[in-house]
Amino acid sequence: MKAPVCRVCAITGVLCPSCSEKYRRGVLTDLDIEVAKHMFELEPRYQGLKDLEMVKSYQVKTRGGRDAVLVIVRHPSRLDPLFLQSLSKQLSNRLKRPARVVQESKDMRRLVSQIINPARVISVSTVWLPDGSIEYDVIVGRRDSNRMFLSLESVKSVLYEIVGQRVRFTFI
Ligand SMILES: [Zn+2]
Repeated sequence: MKAPVCRVCAITGVLCPSCSEKYRRGVLTDLDIEVAKHMFELEPRYQGLKDLEMVKSYQVKTRGGRDAVLVIVRHPSRLDPLFLQSLSKQLSNRLKRPARVVQESKDMRRLVSQIINPARVISVSTVWLPDGSIEYDVIVGRRDSNRMFLSLESVKSVLYEIVGQRVRFTFI
């Protein structure tokens, strides 16, 4: 498994010069270290973690306002949703707050779906703004608006950090 922090640093909590530098620049956070530590510890139990890269972790809020953690991972092949679910559950237990592991994807629909599940995405479209920038418009069923894993604010801000574009939600 790869992570933004080395294995030894994550497990011991003592940062090597390279990890210290990342930490100082703010590209490596306490949350990243905490999540990486648990994932490295879980690695012997999960075959799927071997070729996986933990990209980044985000502090988010659930729909009910509880602190939660969203973890973005990268993998050369499409990860089984059941594997991601099981890993999320193990991480939640260890972090003592809801956690969800999501596979990075260029497919916006797949990315958003993983984040808001069990709410479902009806469609995603790209909107060109007059200033030349783009925005994504995600359509979700009205009844699914209260089934999203995270608060709408968290979903929007985390998506902005991941894809670098604004994402708006329309409930129909
Ligand atoms: Zn290190």
